[in-house]
Order: sequence, then structure tokens, then C-alpha cells
Amino acid sequence: MQQPQRWVLKLTGHIRFRSMAASTLDFVPASLPISSLALEQLQNFVSRSRRLFAITGAGLSTESGIPDYRSEGVGLYSRTDRRPMQHSEFLSNAKARQRYWARNYVGWPLFSSHQPNAAHVALRSWETAGKLHWLVTQNVDALHSKAGSQQLTELHGCTHRVVCLGCGSVSPRQALQVRFAALNPGWAADAGGVAPDGDVFLTDEQVQHFQVPSCEVCGGILKPQVTFFGDTVDRDTVRFVHQKLAESDGVLVAGSSLQVFSGYRFLLAASERKVPVAILNIGPTRADHLASVRVSARCGEVLPAILTL
Ligand SMILES: [Zn+2]
Repeated sequence: MQQPQRWVLKLTGHIRFRSMAASTLDFVPASLPISSLALEQLQNFVSRSRRLFAITGAGLSTESGIPDYRSEGVGLYSRTDRRPMQHSEFLSNAKARQRYWARNYVGWPLFSSHQPNAAHVALRSWETAGKLHWLVTQNVDALHSKAGSQQLTELHGCTHRVVCLGCGSVSPRQALQVRFAALNPGWAADAGGVAPDGDVFLTDEQVQHFQVPSCEVCGGILKPQVTFFGDTVDRDTVRFVHQKLAESDGVLVAGSSLQVFSGYRFLLAASERKVPVAILNIGPTRADHLASVRVSARCGEVLPAILTL
């Protein structure tokens, strides 16, 4: 295990870390040099907490090469006119499902190959050290699991699992890739960029011949086990996360603008309970007014440098 980088807070006004390969950071928004005062505040915040509750978002995975939706200039909304799949459209429209799965099939080899970065690894090490009470992610990319995190709730599900809308059976997404390939011999298309949910860009003509398998148990419709836009997070999951929050003594937001209510509600709950909040994110967030510590910087720079002992 690599030793975490140490901050030299007293010696330099601003801290610089080793630079990463440009391609890895293509989807990371620009940020100013980190203020040493802000870093010190965050270090103190984490040091004080005994049962930290962390909530992460797309900003954590941009450093693994996965674009987010909302970041200025580099997010999917800024670069393209594509918008994510709506829940109602997926349920009601077979053509939409065909398009979704065709793109997902093409994007899967690359999307599923993304690896956790230093921020995921740091949070995993905090769990091992007993610092982190619970980790909630809004990401569906499995990178926290790949890093080994176990005290983890994937609030919006995970693209690495598939659920049948008929019988509810859950299967690995990788197994479906094999079925796609068997059903679509010779079907080939070039992916034109992967979105946060593993989606890619194909023309209607490319899509129309794509065959979509159904559930092997009951013949039902298969859907990634993720919460699409317009759907709601499972009530038991929300209740469970609220319970974990109630057991915690500090909330750290990392790499999320908290624009989606499913995550923001936990910040409101923290505020009601007078649990202190720290936010590490490039750019403003919906919960800035609730935070006592606010750091605008890359998670992969800052989290590994925080000492948990
Ligand atoms: Zn089924």
C-alpha cells in the first residue's frame, strides 16, 4: 500500500500534486489551486469525526475517465444534446429499450473496464481504518465495489447488475453481454463516446437490427438495476441510509453537486440533526449553505492526502 501524500500546509500557500495523464482527466472540470486553509479545515473535519458518513457522486469517477452529466464545459450536457434514459420511456417503449441496449452493448467493454482512482482507494482505506461509518454513492459504475468498499449503499443501483421487470431476478450484466453477442452475430457498430451510465452514440439505422434478449426465467423485460431519471429510489434503501446517517457524526460530500434530490435529502436530514457537513467538489453545490467546510478541488488529489489516524 502506498503511503498517502502529505500536505505541506505551513510551507506553501498552495499545494500541488503530481500531474496525471491528460487523457484520464479529460472529463475533470478545471479547478483553481487548492487553498491550504480549506485543506486544513477538511483535515480537521475528518479528524474530529469518529463515524463519518460519506456521499459521493459523478465527480469522483471523472478521474477514472467517466464523464459526468453536469460539469461546465466537460460534462455530457455541455458537450452533447444527449440526455439520459427516462424511466417511463424505458418501460413503455420497446424501440427505446432496443436503442438503449444496443448502445449499452457497444459501450459495455469500455465502460466496465474503468478502474477506481485514488479517491475510491482512499475511501476504502478509511473504511478499513474504522473512520468511515457508511458510504453512499450516487454513481452506478461499480468503482467503489471494485476498490473493495463494503459498507456501501449504491443509491441509484449499479450498471453491473440486470433486473427482470417480470420476476425480479437479478443477474450479472456481463452474462447479458454474452447473450447479446450470441443473438447479434455480425452486428457491429463503432462507439462514439461513453456516457455516465455506459450509454454510447449510434444511429437509428444501426440500432434497428439489434436483438434484445428477455429474462431467461420468465421471458420478462430486462433492465439495468439502476434508477433511471424519473424513477424513485427504493423506500427501504432510503430508510436504511437515513438510519446510517443518524448513527454518524459528520457528513462528507465528495464529487457531487447534489442537484438530484435523492442525494440532497440526506444533507437536509443532516442539517436537521445538526450533523456537521463538509463538501469537496469542483464548483458550487446545492448544499453549500449547509456546509461548515467547503473545498473546491479534485477528489483524487485531496482524499488520499487526508490522514485518518
Ligand atoms: Zn423474469
